[in-house]
Amino acid sequence: MATFRIVSTKQRPCGAGGHIEAVGVGDGSSPSGQILSVSDVHWRMSQGDTFYTYAHGLRADVRKFDCGCTKKTLRSAPDATVHNNLDNLPQFS
Ligand SMILES: [Zn+2]
Repeated sequence: MATFRIVSTKQRPCGAGGHIEAVGVGDGSSPSGQILSVSDVHWRMSQGDTFYTYAHGLRADVRKFDCGCTKKTLRSAPDATVHNNLDNLPQFS
């Protein structure tokens, strides 16, 4: 099992307002990190790996989430703050 820090996201607009399609993981030394698709992340989670965000000294868990448009995606745990919420990380395209 491994633990990954998500440092960036790729957002995709959709009928439900948008969802995350891919993420970058890393130690924060490079802005986007190593790119993983959401399906890669879901597979790793099913193997016991964990994902989190970190900002302003606060860590927040990242969980599987079904977007309103039916796509499998990710979202921050409800206790995420405005700083470490997935939607507030740098975005890549
Ligand atoms: Zn969606």
